[in-house]
Amino acid sequence: MAGVNRPFDKESNVAKIPTVTLNNGLTMPQLGFGVFQVPDAEAEAAVSTALAAGYRSIDTAAIYGNEQGTGAALAASGIARADLFVTTKLWNGASTKWTAAAVDREFDASLNRLGLDYIDLYLIHWPHPMREDYLTIWRAFEDIARSGRAKAVGVSNFQPPQLRRLIAETELVPAVNQIELHPRLQQAELRALHTSLGIATEAWSPLGQGSLLTDPVIGKIAAKHGRTAAQVVLNWHLQLGNIVIPKSVTPSRIRENLDVFDFTLDDQDRTLIAGLDVGTRVGPNPDTFDPK
Ligand code: NAD
Repeated sequence: MAGVNRPFDKESNVAKIPTVTLNNGLTMPQLGFGVFQVPDAEAEAAVSTALAAGYRSIDTAAIYGNEQGTGAALAASGIARADLFVTTKLWNGASTKWTAAAVDREFDASLNRLGLDYIDLYLIHWPHPMREDYLTIWRAFEDIARSGRAKAVGVSNFQPPQLRRLIAETELVPAVNQIELHPRLQQAELRALHTSLGIATEAWSPLGQGSLLTDPVIGKIAAKHGRTAAQVVLNWHLQLGNIVIPKSVTPSRIRENLDVFDFTLDDQDRTLIAGLDVGTRVGPNPDTFDPK
């Protein structure tokens, strides 16, 4: 495929990863590495490959069951802690009656599994709006942020009504909302709301879990630029200002997904990709998702 055999220069790729400044002043790499569906036993190898390639931001979650393997790779890398950016998420899927103590216990368990003494970004994984408990959880997150055990706190899969309520009834504005976002679900309303509230937009399943990579429109744009479909989609995200966390366990693809900084999509490309926005999800609908 075009672009795969381009020479790969790790040092220059590390330097090229842009950063986004979050609403509390913390900087976060705009492109990171996601490990959803990577078994714990494979996570150390995948994360080690990503770190060796030049990624410095890693996105995991308690529910992924791979914080231990991820932490082993972080420790083995020899990279200074300050140069790493680690995100994990509270699994609030169990129908626990959430209290600050219960959130603290889950946070500490994640820290232990990762082998870290702080998290860069801690997220509430899902809003479960039907349970009416995200404000209680968020107040516990505010305490974690105040204590410095997480450098920033944010949310994931929050919809406009939950963001508005959170901001009206609590003190801290989430630094990030991590949402499903890709060319088939471009999320214009949420992105505009994030901008107006000072929340950074982070795109999960940025490649539509790979489903976009066989799209003929993306293929045509890729051929025009001599790049791969994945590189075109990631470049589209970066130009929009999204934080992206593509996942792969294949070393050549892990490197390919980082080699996206030296080309630019033009207006015609952007118009074609805008036409792919049919509003279809690859993951659950946050309004109704309730895994208890
Ligand atoms: P993705 O859009 O990153 O797609 C990953 C899949 O695309 C891979 O499994 C592989 O099949 C394919 N792929 C990746 N790079 C490729 C390449 N260069 N060439 C060909 N195929 C390629 O999907 P994802 O893993 O669902 O999402 C990325 C990350 O987002 C996750 O790992 C996780 O960290 C995060 N995430 C968060 C939530 C949430 O609720 N907050 C939900 C899902 C995912």
